[in-house]
Amino acid sequence: MTSDNPLLELEELTVSYGDVNAVRDVSIDITEGEVLSIVGPSGSGKSTLIRAIAGLEAVDRGQVTLAGQPVSSNSVQVRPQARDIGMVFQNFALWPHKTVRENVAFPLTADGVAAATVRERVSEVLSLVELDGYDERYPGDLSGGQQQRVAVARALAPDPSLLLLDECFSSLDARLKNRMLSELDRIQSEIGVTTVYVTHDQQDAMQIADRMAVLRDGTLQQVGSPVDVYRSPENGFVANFVGEINALSTDVLAQAFGHRVSSCLSEVGIRPEDLRLLPVAATDGDRRSVASEQEERTRGTIVEATFLGDQTRYEVRVNDVSLTVVEHPRKQFDEGSPVRVEFDRSALVEM
Ligand code: ADP
Repeated sequence: MTSDNPLLELEELTVSYGDVNAVRDVSIDITEGEVLSIVGPSGSGKSTLIRAIAGLEAVDRGQVTLAGQPVSSNSVQVRPQARDIGMVFQNFALWPHKTVRENVAFPLTADGVAAATVRERVSEVLSLVELDGYDERYPGDLSGGQQQRVAVARALAPDPSLLLLDECFSSLDARLKNRMLSELDRIQSEIGVTTVYVTHDQQDAMQIADRMAVLRDGTLQQVGSPVDVYRSPENGFVANFVGEINALSTDVLAQAFGHRVSSCLSEVGIRPEDLRLLPVAATDGDRRSVASEQEERTRGTIVEATFLGDQTRYEVRVNDVSLTVVEHPRKQFDEGSPVRVEFDRSALVEM
C-alpha cells in the first residue's frame, strides 16, 4: 500500500571513499509504504548507498531527505539513532548474551521507553515475526532463520518510518531465504513500513519489490517495477543483470533469421523463455518456414539439452549463432535434433 508522498528523497547523492566515488549522482524518490530494492553486482555501491541513507556514511554531494527533513548533505548530518530508521544487517548483529526479549527491547530501553510499554511492544513484534514464546531463549539456541527474524523484530520495535535491509537474508539457504522474503512481504503488508532492501540477487529483488533500482559502478541505471525493468531494460547491462538474455546484433539476427527485423536497432535481445522450439517435420525441408507477420522463425540444431525439473534449458545453434532457450514442458528434444526456432517480434528487447 503506497501513498504519493515521498518518504525518502535521494537527490544527486555522491558518496566517496578517498578517490573512489562509490555512489555517483544517484536520485530516487521512495514513496511512503513502498518497498524499493537496490540491486547490482558486488562493488556497485549498494551498501554505501543504504549506509548513507542510515547516516552511517557522510555524503560528499547531494542530499538525503526523510519525511521532509534533510538528514544528510554537506552541511547536515543527523546521527543514525535520530533518523527514525530500523536496520537489519547480513550478520544479524544480535547480542549473544542477551535473551531474545532483551535483544528486541534494547532500542526501546535505550530510548527510555517505560518498562510496561517495552514489554507490550516486544511481545507484539515477536508475534509479528511469529516468534511468540521465544522471549527467554538466547540467539545461540535459535536457527539462522529465527535469529534473522529476531533482528527484524528488533528493527521494527521502535516502529520506524523506514526499514533498511542490507543483504540480510543472503547467508540463509535458498529455501529459508524464500520463506523469509514471503514473511517480509506479509509483515510489510500488515504494517506498511517503507522498506529499502539491498541485494545482489535480482530474483530476491524482484520477489518483494514494488520498484527496483539497478546500480552499476555507483551509478543508477534504471528504477522501475520489476516487470518494467525486466521487459524494458534501459540498456544491455540491465538486461543481462536482471534475468538472462540472448543479445544479438541486428546483423546476427539477420544472419540467423533472415533480413526480417527492422534495421533501425543496432542491438536487440530476446529472453530464453521467449524463444519457442518446434519439431521439424520430415517434409519441412526449407531452411525458413512460413511465418506470420508477427513472428520470426528459422531452423536450428539442439547442441545441448539440460533437464532441470520444472524447465529444460537448450543451447540451440542457428547458422553460426548460439541461442539459449528455456522451455517449461518436459524435455522433448535430444541433442543433435533439428528444430524450428520461433519468437514473436513483440518479445524483442531493445538494448
Ligand atoms: P556493494 O554493496 O554493491 O558490494 P559497496 O558499496 O560495498 O558495494 O562498495 C562500492 C565501492 O566502494 C567499491 O568499489 C568498494 O571497493 C568501495 N568501498 C566500499 N567501502 C569502502 C571503504 N570503507 N573504503 C574504501 N573503499 C570502499
